[in-house]
Amino acid sequence: MGIFSKEKTAEQVFVKGIKLKCPICKNETFYHREAQLNTKAFSMMNIDWANKSANCYVCTNCSNIQWFLEKV
Ligand SMILES: [Zn+2]
Repeated sequence: MGIFSKEKTAEQVFVKGIKLKCPICKNETFYHREAQLNTKAFSMMNIDWANKSANCYVCTNCSNIQWFLEKV
């Protein structure tokens, strides 16, 4: 997980007022991360949001990652 910061705080997350649940294990707590999207792969694909950062929520139970481009 080299692209993520070290901070680890389990939290409940609401997206548009709906509590985020892990689709895999149904867990409801996540670690919030911000990830820069300006990787080589994104740049090569010439995607215009390539240099933005994404909000990532990592399931504290199974480590599945859910990505959001906008602040939720
Ligand atoms: Zn999970």
